[in-house]
Amino acid sequence: MEDPLASSTNTATLAAPAARRGRGFYFPDVTDAEWNDWKWQFRHRITSLEELCRLLPIPEGERDTRGQVLRDFRMGIPPYYLALIDADDPHDPILRQAVPVSDELWNRAVGDEDPLAEEAYSPVPGITHRYPDRVLMVISNTCAVYCRYCTRKRIMYDDAVPELELDRMVEYIAKTPAVRDVVVSGGDPLHLSTPKLERILAKLRAIPHLEIIRIGTRVPVALPQRIDDELCDMLQKYHPLWINVHFNHPRECTPEAARACDKLSRAGIPLNNQSVLLRGVNDDVPTMKALVHGLMRMRVRPYYLYQCDPVRGTEHMRTTVAKGLEIIEGLRGHTSGLAIPTYVVDAPGGGGKVPVTPDYLQGYDPVTGVARLRNFQKREFVYTDPRPRLGPDLGTIDVVLVEGEPGHANGNGHANGNGNGHGHANGNGNGNGHANGNGNGNGVAEVRVPANGNGFGPVQGGVASPANGQGPVVGKSTWVHGRGNRLPTL
Ligand SMILES: *Cc1c(COP(=O)(O)O)cnc(C)c1O
Ligand code: SF4
Repeated sequence: MEDPLASSTNTATLAAPAARRGRGFYFPDVTDAEWNDWKWQFRHRITSLEELCRLLPIPEGERDTRGQVLRDFRMGIPPYYLALIDADDPHDPILRQAVPVSDELWNRAVGDEDPLAEEAYSPVPGITHRYPDRVLMVISNTCAVYCRYCTRKRIMYDDAVPELELDRMVEYIAKTPAVRDVVVSGGDPLHLSTPKLERILAKLRAIPHLEIIRIGTRVPVALPQRIDDELCDMLQKYHPLWINVHFNHPRECTPEAARACDKLSRAGIPLNNQSVLLRGVNDDVPTMKALVHGLMRMRVRPYYLYQCDPVRGTEHMRTTVAKGLEIIEGLRGHTSGLAIPTYVVDAPGGGGKVPVTPDYLQGYDPVTGVARLRNFQKREFVYTDPRPRLGPDLGTIDVVLVEGEPGHANGNGHANGNGNGHGHANGNGNGNGHANGNGNGNGVAEVRVPANGNGFGPVQGGVASPANGQGPVVGKSTWVHGRGNRLPTL
């Protein structure tokens, strides 16, 4: 796996036959001043097939169909983002996200214009009010890059959202006290000029019941030069402000993107990432793992992994739900919990985001209080709900006896008697731990045996049952030093 933070710009210095990509490969004559100027990047976006063909080897026979695609959905690729594409790879993951392909034309009749019914749940144009306390506000029809799978393709035709419409959106939020959170999105809000964006944020901030403002943007991914001091100084006047970014592939986690994220973080803005699960881009565990690790290194928290919406012309980019489950399965337990996004399917027709998780809870009976769990290694465990309160006159407590499968963990909770002793026995390793609560009619014993198949650690089952309240019932840890020969021999 390549280092996702490796520079995209220094391929010329590598000794091995380097991938043909990077600024030096595609844009050798551009000066640093131009390259680092976001307005230069924005103005020089690749928007026509002719320009694209000058930079990338598009097969002769596909030029016509790809050109037709552009009549349905525009193209716009900043030079910085295009330079991430490997010129020799027709299936390059960056290319698949930004460059029109013939499949879009073949699939142009498949899918919906507005799969999430954003417009059906819209009290005023530009606002979608689907959830009780938060709204989506679409303030721009323009993006730094046009993603071929975009759910909001349908709005990317006009150039700007009229001032009057923006005012109506703000007015709706102002007169709807239930709204405490607004998702400012587009299009991309951060491609607007700083003063224009500030005018909108200032109006939102003036609404007393609006607690938080969130901005959804792909700018740190596709046009990181845009994240300059002027923008950050402006944004931090409108706290609490959160930003959701949209990285899909580890190769997007460049030094430039890391710098942009760092600047936003230093302005006090928490960054969360929303990825879309895309066929041929990030639909395998190693790629997704490299992505979330790259994000964590940039201090960006993976928030959502979206199932690709069935939007018109994107059938070739969608995956099965099974694929999403496989990816979460491949992350959970295998890497930092902080790095794991919530996988969601946004319900077609406007049902909202539905979290979809692997079947870690294999069964749960609220009457017996037994939950059958399986972990990331597919081993089974039992968790029991809290027992009824123990007391001197409680009598016999029901025994919850759970059969485990051979080689799995067995937890036998066993309680006899009518007293109030409480014993614990902990076991590690293979096999069965065993504990009995005995004594003068008093005692409760529990066994927890993580039979982890590694064979480390001695089984520490056994009697643990000071009855009648004699002696401590805690303090059985083998980690406690200076109490004789309790330390396990490893
Ligand atoms: C995604 C979305 C939100 C925000 O949802 P969270 O789960 O709070 O991030 C709000 N409104 C609409 C219409 C959305 O699609
Ligand atoms: S940046 Fe977002 S809104 Fe813009 S084209 Fe990409 S997915 Fe759509």
